[in-house]
Formats: sequence, C-alpha cells, structure tokens
Amino acid sequence: MNRTTSYPPNTTFDDFLYSRPNMTEVSQEFEKHLSKFENAKDAVKQQEALAGIVAVREEFGSMFNLCYVRHTSNTADPFYEAENQYFDEQSPSFEALNNRFFYALLSSPFRNVLAEKYGNHLFTLAEVSIKTFQPSILEDLKLENALSTEYTKIKARAKVDFEGKSYNLSSLLPIELSDDRTTRKNATTAKWGFYAANAEAIENIFDQMVKLRHGIAQKLGFRNFTEVGYARMHRSDYTPVMVANFRRQVREHIVPIASRLYERQRKRLGINAMKHYDEDYKFASGNPKPIGSPEQIVANAAKMYHELSPDTDAFFTRMQSAKLMDLVNRDGKATGGYCTYISKYDAPYIFSNFNGTSGDIDVLTHEAGHAFQVWSSRDFLFEEYHWPTADAAEIHSMSMEFFTWPWMQLFFGPQTDKYHFMHLAGAIQFLPYGVAVDEFQHIVYEKPDMTPAERNTVWRELEKIYLPHRDYDGIEHLDRGRFWHKQSHIFNSPFYYIDYALAQICAFQFWVKDRSDHDSAWADYLRLCRAGGSLSFLNLVKLANLKSPFDDGCVKSVVGEIQDYLNSVDDSKF
Ligand code: ZN
Repeated sequence: MNRTTSYPPNTTFDDFLYSRPNMTEVSQEFEKHLSKFENAKDAVKQQEALAGIVAVREEFGSMFNLCYVRHTSNTADPFYEAENQYFDEQSPSFEALNNRFFYALLSSPFRNVLAEKYGNHLFTLAEVSIKTFQPSILEDLKLENALSTEYTKIKARAKVDFEGKSYNLSSLLPIELSDDRTTRKNATTAKWGFYAANAEAIENIFDQMVKLRHGIAQKLGFRNFTEVGYARMHRSDYTPVMVANFRRQVREHIVPIASRLYERQRKRLGINAMKHYDEDYKFASGNPKPIGSPEQIVANAAKMYHELSPDTDAFFTRMQSAKLMDLVNRDGKATGGYCTYISKYDAPYIFSNFNGTSGDIDVLTHEAGHAFQVWSSRDFLFEEYHWPTADAAEIHSMSMEFFTWPWMQLFFGPQTDKYHFMHLAGAIQFLPYGVAVDEFQHIVYEKPDMTPAERNTVWRELEKIYLPHRDYDGIEHLDRGRFWHKQSHIFNSPFYYIDYALAQICAFQFWVKDRSDHDSAWADYLRLCRAGGSLSFLNLVKLANLKSPFDDGCVKSVVGEIQDYLNSVDDSKF
C-alpha cells in the first residue's frame, strides 16, 4: 500500500497551510484508530485502521516540520517562536501516542501478514523505538527540548563585532577565510570571544542535558545514556564496540594521511607553522569561490541535475517550482543548513545560509542529496521509510557531492581542479574530527558526573590523539578544551556525529566506482535512494553493493585510491 496525497497542483511553499494541531483532538483521533487497530478481527481491518493512524501522524509531522522551517527562517517572528515552543512542549505527548502504536504493532496477531506487506524493518524500528520512551520521562523530554532550543538561540542571536561591523556566526565565516592571515586570526579570535563570553551558559546547558539524559536512561532501565542514544538513532545492527573498532581504523589509517595533508597545506601557504585559523584556508591564492549570484548558482544547479539523470531533473524542477529552497543568509535566520520533509505536500525543503564560499555549492549537492533521496522514497506509506537512519542518509548526501563532480566546472570554472582537491582532502581531514566528537560523547555519557572542566580536559586529550597537528596559537579558551562548544550535534543530536564518518567511508566507495563505471555506480545509488528507510544501515550498505565500514580493512582499502588521487595532484600550482 502506497501513500496517496491530495493537494492542488502548483501549490508552492508559501501556500502550505499551517495550523496548530490541537493536542486533545489529535489524541482522540489517534486513540480512535488505535483502538480499531487493536480490536480488528482480521488483517484487512487492521490495515484500514493503519491508514487512519498514518493520516494523523502525517498531519502532525507535516505541521511540526512546516513550523520548524518557518521558525528557523526567522527566529525573531513571535508567531512561529510560540508555535515552536508549543511543539517543544507537545511533541513528547505525541511521542507517547506513537509509542503505544509501536506496542500495538508488535503485539498484532496478524504481524506476519503486515510484515509481508510492509517489510520487517518497520517492526525492528518499533522494537528499537519503544526502548526510548515511557510516560515517566515525558517531562524530562520537554525539558530536553527546551535546553536544545536555548543552545540554538544563543548561537542564532550571536552578534560579533569585528572591525566596526556587526556579524552573525554565518556572515563572519567568509571573513574567517580571508586571504589576509591577520584578518583570519582576528576574525576567528573575535568569534571565540563570543563563545568565551557565553562559555558558562553553554557549559551549564550541557551539564543539565547530560544529567537529564542520564536520568532518562535510568528511568528506562539502562545503565547510561549511550544505549538510549543508539536506540534514538534507530540503530538496529551495530553496537558501540563496533563503532569503537571503526574509530580505531580511522586513528590508524586516516590520521596519518590527514596530518600529511596539513603539512602539504602548510607548504602551499608558505608559513612556518599551521595555526587553527589556517586550517580552513587551503590555498595561498584563496579557496575556490563559486561564480555568480545565488540565482545563477541555482540555475546552474538546475542544468546539472537536468544532465545528471531524468530522476534528478524531475526532482530539482519541483524544488524550484514549489519554492522549496531558502538559501541566502539573513539576520535572524538560524545558522547552518538542513534538509527536511513536509510529507503532506511531498515537499523536501532545503535551508541554508549562502555566504559566498564553496560551502554554498556543497548545500546544492549535499542537502540536495538528502532531498533527492526523500523525494525518491516518498511513496512509502510509513514515515519510518521516508528517511533511512542518519548513518545511511548521509551516504545519499555525501555521495551526491561526488556524483556531481563532473559539473563543478559550472560553479568554479578554472578553479575546478582546486575545488576537487579541496573537497576530497577536506573529506579525509574531517574524519578524525568526526570520530573525536563521537568518542567524546561516549566518554561524557559513560561518566555523567564529570564537571564541565573535566569534560573540557577530555576533549583536549582527544584532540591530541585525533588532531595532533592542531595549534590554537595561545587562545586560552580553546587550549582549555572548549572547541566542542560550537558543535551543535553534541547538544541537540547526541551520537549523531559518527554517522557522517560512517557515511563518508561509503561515499568514498561511490567516488571510486563512479570514476570507473558511472552507469553501474548511479544504478546502485538510485536503488539505495529508492529503498529509503525500509532497511537497516548494514542492509542498505549491502543493497548498494558497498563494503561495511565496520569490517576490518574497509577503511584502509577505501582510502588507498583516494590517497593515490591526492598524491597525483600537483597542489603547488594552486
Ligand atoms: Zn547531511
């Protein structure tokens, strides 16, 4: 059974109707269908009840996501601020309803018939989900949401004064990449001045989060929050031990390559020692910058997706015609970029803050990769299957960054080779940081009673292992181990971060394949996108003909070809 949607053709994002879900009515409607499901005498009746439950969930989820987009696009709008707060307060109650649905699903006498029709993974996800919730933690979840919002607001409202002008964290970024080293240093120092001024508030939020999450874990019957974190990420086929083995592979095989890349960078830049504000400044001639206005960039993206495949063409045409992208930086917009999905309108949505750096193009490949995947799996009835778990979802986005390599000429012109080198080297250099963020969280939740200062020490120690080149040039705030304060995932999405690293290793495999046989690589990719979230991470990896990143030897074998490519490039000409 597939979804059916009905909205007028030519509906654009501005027409998407927001109305606050009344929790009493939502609960009554949900309960009504749930009770029909529980009392159904046969599988057909159960499926009718399921359609009702799906409709309630779709409406609530669509309003939640619509509110999220409108709130993040203008955090100063009091209407959506209030609506966002309403969802902070109400979504745990909705989670409680979902949880009851999962219990009902798992105890259905017609489970075999349903599994035959919808796949077994829905039941696996239900089993994992019920571990993360009990009514007794409802108030804790509300508080956790409120703390996340508090952290996000501190960053969104940042005003950094620099050389007589006021910047937010996004608009400061290009200054931090200035061709002038002193400007880079001063801009970065100004940014960390903002974080230093807010350090106590940030540490206090995190301290509350850690203790709250530990309490939640104990109420749910777990030893600590790590297991809850994994279950929240819906991981069903790997464990912290396997992840630790992956981190070990990164430490052994990637850290040395990354260090050599920083050394090459130091030589290119012609400096005596790499400082942290040089790390993102890759070339003495400046980082490659995209050509043209945001409108021209989007027009070139449309050309690229038209040429890449009929599927990506149809997808991007819809993104444009229904106005499903908000790309340009404005005051009051939340920082960063994301892709979400408003299923009621079959609408992926891409949010970003263009700032004139090559990151603008990454949005149109990375976030568009997410959006293309959810678009490709929109016909699944259950929202659980629209997105895969994040480890797999990042394969779609990071691989799209690579599949679009042949079109980078459109955006970077004569600087394309430089962009390619930077992209691939950057992906390698990211991995050690990615696993450090992950290891940090494992330690933090293993020892929830650590003081903020002890947590900072842990972070600093991890930097020495995974980022041995890093030199903070005497910025005390960072030498004391507070770099992680800027990493929002640590606050808002515990245990998410390793997914970027796992997916990167998979995306590298697509990079390798695409260069030798585009047609078969693209066929594998499309199959992966269409499977959405209907399978677990390792099963999706298998479906796409990829090697598991947990297998011994995987990391080493994959990075071999990447290293050969990077070594073959004469970066002194950049
Ligand atoms: Zn992503």
